[in-house]
Amino acid sequence: MADRLMPELEAAAAEMAGAERGFHRLPPGLDAAAGAAVRRRALELASGSGPLEAIGRYTLDDDRASSQHCENFIGAAQVPMGVAGPLLVRGSEMDGTVSVPMATTEGALLASVNRGCRAITAAGGATVFVEDVGMTRAPVFRTSGIEATRRLLEWLDANAEKVRAKARQTSRYLELLEVRPSVVGSTVFLRFRFATGDAMGMNMVTIACDRVVSELIEPETGVECVALSGNYCVDKKPSAVNYQLGRGKRIHAEVVLDELTVRKVLKSNAEALQDVAYRKNLLGSVAAGALAFNAQFANVLAAVFVACGQDVAHVVEGAMGVASFEARNNGSVYASVYMPDCPLAAIGGGTGLDTQREALAVMGVRADPARPGTAVRRLAEIVGAVVLAGELSLTAAFTSRDLARAHERLARSRPANTD
Ligand code: NAP
Repeated sequence: MADRLMPELEAAAAEMAGAERGFHRLPPGLDAAAGAAVRRRALELASGSGPLEAIGRYTLDDDRASSQHCENFIGAAQVPMGVAGPLLVRGSEMDGTVSVPMATTEGALLASVNRGCRAITAAGGATVFVEDVGMTRAPVFRTSGIEATRRLLEWLDANAEKVRAKARQTSRYLELLEVRPSVVGSTVFLRFRFATGDAMGMNMVTIACDRVVSELIEPETGVECVALSGNYCVDKKPSAVNYQLGRGKRIHAEVVLDELTVRKVLKSNAEALQDVAYRKNLLGSVAAGALAFNAQFANVLAAVFVACGQDVAHVVEGAMGVASFEARNNGSVYASVYMPDCPLAAIGGGTGLDTQREALAVMGVRADPARPGTAVRRLAEIVGAVVLAGELSLTAAFTSRDLARAHERLARSRPANTD
C-alpha cells in the first residue's frame, strides 16, 4: 500500500486525476518528493494502475532532477547497469585499461561487449583517434530572393569577427568555428559550428545562435529568422549532412586481431568475419537504404549514454557509421569503426546526476577547467573502443551461428510476478 497523503494533498491529486488541475500546478510549499507523491497519487487514481511505489523509490537528488532535468517529476525509471571490460584503449587522453559502465534492459548485450573487450585487450588494445568536429545549430531565414540572399551572405563574410565575438560573450568555453550556408530558393540555412569544451553543447550553441541572430543578423540585415533550428543542424535525426561533415565527435577506432585471438575468444576466423561484414554491413545496408553500415552501434551507444548521462536521443545520430573487417596475413583480421557524428559530454546535461557522475568517474572522465575538452575526448576514445568491441563480438556471433543461442540462454523473457 502506498502511504496515504494528507487530505488537502489527496484532494489536489483527485483534481489532477480529473484533469481539473494540471500536473505542473502543485499546492504551494511542497518539496520535490512531496510534489512527486501527489502526481503519482493522481496517476493511480486516474489509471487504476495500483500503487506506483517502485517509481517513487530512488536515490537521485530530486530537487535537482525536478528543477533542472525533468518537469512534472514523479520518480525514476531504473535501468540495470553492468560493466564491460577491462578494455585496453590506445588514445591520446585514454591510454590504458578501463571498465565501461552500461545500462540496459537487453540481456546478452553486456556479455557480448565483454567478449569484444577481451579480444581487443588480448590483441594489444584498440587504437582510437578522435576529431573534435564541434556542435552545430542551423537557423533558417526567409529572404525576398537571390539578391537579398547574396547581400545576407556578403554581410556574414564582412562581419565574421563581429559574429565570433558576439558568440564568445555567451560562454567561457564556446568558440565559433564556421558558418556554412545552404540556400534553397528564398530560404537560407546558416549552419553554425562551435567548439564547446567538455560539454555536448546543444544549450550553449542554441543560446549563442539566438544572440547572434537577434542582436546582429536581423537588425543589421533586415532578414527575418523563421526558426532558430532549421533542421540543417542536424539535431537528433540521421542525415547525410552530418554523415559527411560530422557533428560532435568524429571517432575512428581500429584493432588487428591475431588468428589465435579470433579463434579462441571470438570463435571465428578472418574470412568469415570479412564476409559477414561485407554482405551484412555493406550490401545489406545498401539494400536497405540505411545510413548505418554496422551491426550494433546503437545498442552499445544507448547503454553507455543511459549509464553516463548523455542525451539519449543522440543515439539516432551516433548510430550512423561504418564497421569494416579485412582478412590479413596468417589468419589475422583488421577491424575498424568509423563514427562521423557522435555528440558527447563530460559536463552539463545529465552528466551531473549522481549515478551518471559515478559512472563517468569509473572511466576517469572528469572535466578539468585547466584543460577544457580533454575529459570529453577521453570519453570519446573509450566510446570508440567499446563500440568496436560490440561490433567484433556480434559479427563473430553471426559467423558461428551463436546469436540465437546466446539470446536464448541470456535474454529470454521470463514473466515477472509468477506466483
Ligand atoms: P549545459 O548543461 O547547458 O552546460 C554547459 C555549461 O557548462 C556551459 O555553458 C559552461 O558554462 C559550463 N561549463 C563548465 N565547465 C565547462 C567545460 N569544461 N566545458 C564546457 N562547458 C563548461 O550543457 P550543453 O552541453 O550546452 O547542453 C546540454 C543539454 O542540452 C542537454 O541536457 C540536452 O538535453 C540539451 N539539449 C538542448 C537543446 C536546445 O536546443 N537547447 C537541444 C538538444 C539538447 P559557461 O557558459 O558559464 O562558461
